[in-house]
Amino acid sequence: MVAGRGEYPERIVVVGGGLAGLRTIEELRAAGYRGSLTLIGAESRPPYDRPPLSKAFLSGAVDDTSLRPAGDLAALGARIRLGERAEWLGDGVLRTDLAEYPFDRLVIATGARPVTLPGGAGQRVLRSFDDALALRETIAAGARMVIVGAGWIGAELATAAAARGCQVTVVEAGAAPLAAAVGAEVGAVTSAWYAQAGVELLLGRAVGSIAEGGLELAAGGWLAADVVVTAVGVRPDVGWLEPAGVLLDNGVVVDSRLESSMTGVYAVGDCAAFWSERFARRMRPEHWDVALRAPVTLAANLLGGDERYDPVPYFWSEQFGRMLQFAGDHRAATEFLWRGDTATASWSACWLAEGDDALAGRRLVAMLTVGAPRDFAQGRRLIEARALVDPAQLADPGVSVRAAAIEASPGV
Ligand SMILES: Cc1cc2nc3c(=O)[nH]c(=O)nc-3n(C[C@H](O)[C@H](O)[C@H](O)COP(=O)(O)OP(=O)(O)OC[C@H]3O[C@@H](n4cnc5c(N)ncnc54)[C@H](O)[C@@H]3O)c2cc1C
Repeated sequence: MVAGRGEYPERIVVVGGGLAGLRTIEELRAAGYRGSLTLIGAESRPPYDRPPLSKAFLSGAVDDTSLRPAGDLAALGARIRLGERAEWLGDGVLRTDLAEYPFDRLVIATGARPVTLPGGAGQRVLRSFDDALALRETIAAGARMVIVGAGWIGAELATAAAARGCQVTVVEAGAAPLAAAVGAEVGAVTSAWYAQAGVELLLGRAVGSIAEGGLELAAGGWLAADVVVTAVGVRPDVGWLEPAGVLLDNGVVVDSRLESSMTGVYAVGDCAAFWSERFARRMRPEHWDVALRAPVTLAANLLGGDERYDPVPYFWSEQFGRMLQFAGDHRAATEFLWRGDTATASWSACWLAEGDDALAGRRLVAMLTVGAPRDFAQGRRLIEARALVDPAQLADPGVSVRAAAIEASPGV
């Protein structure tokens, strides 16, 4: 039996040794938790940072993506079980491939794993340090690399491989790069970057299967390659929980307190589909920022608090020498505008929705900036404040984003 909500949890177990798992044990200790803490991770490495894997690590600029020196981890006073995989969840007990762990509270932070395509032979993915290490060894000058998927990871991979002299082809089933994340109209602007970097971009081509030496397109045709990397997205790593009866729907379903349908069982990070009161829908953003910050709320709730996690999602990407930053949720947008010239090094895409009070203006609900960190910082604050903006002012790069806000609107 798990401890009731009001009872102090003597034993907290965290499954998943990624950023979300690490941050959870850090925040629990920071909040003064002195009980027994166990972190169980399937990978044999201590927690590390994934974003550099497709950027500075792949390009060869850094060799290490450690989050913490080993001593700091030891200072947390937690039992750290690496190379151990959780397999079964019962009432107040977790079983791994090596042992059983009774708990008063359990945190599921098992992240996500890449989707793979039929065929398999020779197919590579990029999720873990080991994936990145193996890939880095293959991207020698002149190697033919085919990347399946022109999403965030595909674009970053193409950037690193092209910079290291590979002949890179990116095959994308959609009409534009990043179409699933920011829509085809905005994503299409990035197509030119591929050509400028010497990367061939094939749009509207679904891949049928992958074989040794290349891949078969769904509509027929063979693309030869020395290396094929599949970068078509990830799925929450929660299959092991199916027999447990905890509610799963595109991840572990949790409320805005990050608690699941099972009392005492919480989830955080890429595996958690949390309820956003701000956007009135369930979200699973797969963003580093969530794994970093949600554990603050989670730790408070594990210790009897009643806090809500309700962020404006934030993501960044570095591709073809450009810094992209995205904040918000554009699903509810009713209008869209460009700020600046997309042929230049600095521009933004802004999504707007109807204002919900008597003030004239539109609410800024999402923003993608390219090479415009100041605009991004100001835009993100306006989104968080649900501020109203004057669309004409916002579209004018001569006016600061902050100054485009309507003075009487909230948060301004
Ligand atoms: C190459 C790459 C680049 C990225 N770049 C960016 C970026 O630029 N910006 C951004 O915002 N985000 C980026 N991300 C996303 C970001 O890294 C993730 O959102 C973040 O890592 C999620 O952390 P997590 O702890 O929830 O999950 P994970 O990092 O996936 O960690 C989960 C851990 O749980 C382990 N595990 C799984 N199942 C079990 C089990 N049954 N038992 C025990 N352990 C288990 C896994 O092995 C893994 O170690 C990137 C991701 C990748 C892969």
